Amino acid sequence: METAIKDNWTQIIEFLRDNYDVLNILYRTWILPLEVISESDSEVTIAIDESKQGDITGLIDKKYRIPLQTSIEAITGKTVSITFVSRNSQNEEKGVSSYYNSEDQKTKTLEEKYIFLRSGHSFDNFVVSSSNRLAHAAAVAVAENPNGQIYNPLFLYSGPGLGKTHLMHSISRYILENHPEYKLLYTTSEKFTNDVVESIMDNKQNKSALPNLRDKYRNVDVLLIDDIQFIIEKKSTLQEFFHTFEELFQNGKQLVISSDKPPSEMEGLEERYKTRFSSGLPVDIQPPDYETAMAILKLKQTNEDIQLSEDILSYIASNARSSIRDLEGAYTKVKLLSKLSGPDREITQEMVENALKDIINENSTVNLTAEYIIDVVCSHFNVDKDRLLSERRTKEISYPRQICMYLCSEYTSLTQQVIAEKLKRKNHTTVNHAVKTIKDDLLVDNELQNTINVLKKKLNVN
Ligand code: ADP
Ligand code: MG
Repeated sequence: METAIKDNWTQIIEFLRDNYDVLNILYRTWILPLEVISESDSEVTIAIDESKQGDITGLIDKKYRIPLQTSIEAITGKTVSITFVSRNSQNEEKGVSSYYNSEDQKTKTLEEKYIFLRSGHSFDNFVVSSSNRLAHAAAVAVAENPNGQIYNPLFLYSGPGLGKTHLMHSISRYILENHPEYKLLYTTSEKFTNDVVESIMDNKQNKSALPNLRDKYRNVDVLLIDDIQFIIEKKSTLQEFFHTFEELFQNGKQLVISSDKPPSEMEGLEERYKTRFSSGLPVDIQPPDYETAMAILKLKQTNEDIQLSEDILSYIASNARSSIRDLEGAYTKVKLLSKLSGPDREITQEMVENALKDIINENSTVNLTAEYIIDVVCSHFNVDKDRLLSERRTKEISYPRQICMYLCSEYTSLTQQVIAEKLKRKNHTTVNHAVKTIKDDLLVDNELQNTINVLKKKLNVN
């Protein structure tokens, strides 16, 4: 029996993923569970497991028949026609083993089920100190009792990089783990805005778009919305949010909001909503003191192979404390320096000072660095920096990468060649192409405009 396709299946689907920019989540949901049941020189039969994937033969056929054919041809050199068959593994005694079996389902981590969650973000690795004690305590209280009765809304505010998102993810994780009966939705105001804009547009054709949106956001027990400041300027979105807020609030549902400032200072916000937002517990997070910064660095260092000396940690903690994101950025940079400095990994204070020049700079906000832009973009899209700088070409990674190049080109004085080096690309034509792509897309893509605006605010540029 021919088995070339089956034998090379992993390669085939990876080829498909990388060359057709299949998003990871789609890859996991649609492609990974597919299984080759039989093949000949000219034909292949692929099974779709209805009990795991639902009745999606039509969808797979429409979207992936040709990409699959092409990928099979690229890897095995065979030109085949594909038949998809649907089957239900639950009714089988012993079928071909399924990749996506229920054991996998059970062992799926929360991160896999809820893609917004970042693995480092939990109460366990949140360092508590005087600068964030109240915010932390309130977050834990709400996570333990997400019934809208303790603090509602819980309103967290602070400057950038001080732990708001970390706390919101921690609350979400805690509730998902300990109160699975609560229906929870975490969103950013950017995502909310995009959803609203999209439904308003779709609603012209399809009258169920707006009701669907409302159903999504109002039919929950806990709603967390991150970085609310970004929706204040958008009238229709703001209104939609207020209605959502009001309905949930009236029904005693739990709300958690984060913002860069307290409700009272949010310009353009109607008085009654300032009052509403302040009615639960508005609580701020301050930059860490020296001891807290040290504690955070030491926590980061626990699982690392490279151990920086106390003096060096102390230098970082004393100098890069205005934001924990900067603190982490400085730490990562010095760690890299140490890694590159040869077998004894000796680094001097001077080397450290030099490496951190642009992070530890009074005016660092006006002197944007490529590293900082990359950090902010990675955190925004929730992608790993190593993956962003890798060769991967999936859209999920390549689009944020192109956005980095665009932002570096617009908001730093670096040349395209240097930007290419910072992003670990071979030459400047990649940067040139990325900048052009983003500029072109910006002319027509509302969602992208919104994303870039949010990123610009995060980077503090106009
Ligand atoms: P914000 O949402 O306020 O801009 P983030 O929650 O994204 O800030 O925090 C920036 C970085 O600092 C994240 O990597 C986060 O894990 C880390 N961080 C913030 N506060 C703490 C803390 N108290 N302990 C440990 N890490 C922290
Ligand atoms: Mg945040």
